Amino acid sequence: AAKRRHGGVTGYDASLDEGDASRLSLQSELRQGIERGELVVFYQPKVDVATRMPCGAEALVRWQHPERGLLAPDVFIPLAEETGLIDLITAEVLDQALAQIARWAELHHELPVSVNIPARSLSDATFPATVAAALDRHRVRPELLTLEITESAVIADMMRAGEVLGGLREQGVNISIDDFGTGYSSIAHLRDMPPHELKIDRSFVMKMCENSRDETIVRAVVDLARNLRLRVVAEGVETESALQALDELGCHEAQGYHISRPLPAADLTAWLAGAASG
Ligand code: C2E
Ligand code: CA
Ligand code: CA
Ligand code: CA
Repeated sequence: AAKRRHGGVTGYDASLDEGDASRLSLQSELRQGIERGELVVFYQPKVDVATRMPCGAEALVRWQHPERGLLAPDVFIPLAEETGLIDLITAEVLDQALAQIARWAELHHELPVSVNIPARSLSDATFPATVAAALDRHRVRPELLTLEITESAVIADMMRAGEVLGGLREQGVNISIDDFGTGYSSIAHLRDMPPHELKIDRSFVMKMCENSRDETIVRAVVDLARNLRLRVVAEGVETESALQALDELGCHEAQGYHISRPLPAADLTAWLAGAASG
């Protein structure tokens, strides 16, 4: 049976990766689901650590499955990455997120939004033009968009990736290295393809107040980012003590359940209104 997580989101279900038949059916269901508009985007706010004011949000996709309910991304993103459906998902999430940025701007909440981009998009020479067209369509300033790049696989063609990142930077879009310190992301990238931001994975942040090794790693990444003049964001901030520790370390931005869970857009609009009135 599917595992229920908080907020009624169904998490990873072991039965989904048992056997080729069920994988194949999930794959075709996913393609259909994308076409039928079953992907929904939730938004998790980030705050400026020093002022505690909202400073952005991360777009996190869910799949509103007609029978299985609201599915978390860990159920379908890995499969989508293997099968190439991820490119459709990336385009869909980017489109929904830009539409939402435009709506918030109309409500006078000029909120920067981060969208997750798999590293494979960096081997697509047309990706910068795709992003430019989407920004244009929604009349959104590129400064309001951050692309969080996750390396779940090695970047095969570093030359190409450098050109694609260069094209995005030229447009004024912000680049973040997601899950920094995990996966294949490496320090060499900071020299060869400098981003605007590093994002520290929640696996280091969640227990940083109990585990001194985790705290040391968070401190090292914050120092590295600050010395390179990059923004640094910690995710997985679950307690007030973690938020205070991050403040002392000089981390710029924080995201996590202590601030807010990921919310449907309308709920984040209400949350922002509450944050603005104190
Ligand atoms: P991520 O990019 O590292 O996103 C952060 C994850 O941490 C989210 O899980 C978020 O709900 C969770 N989180 C935030 N604060 C806390 C906290 O305080 N404690 C704990 N325990 N968890 C927290 P979510 O939404 O299930 O997303 C999981 C992963 O799925 C994301 O990890 C990202 O890699 C991927 N993903 C989500 N949306 C997209 C998308 O649109 N495109 C792509 N390519 N990947 C996506
Ligand atoms: Ca992310
Ligand atoms: Ca990630
Ligand atoms: Ca992460």
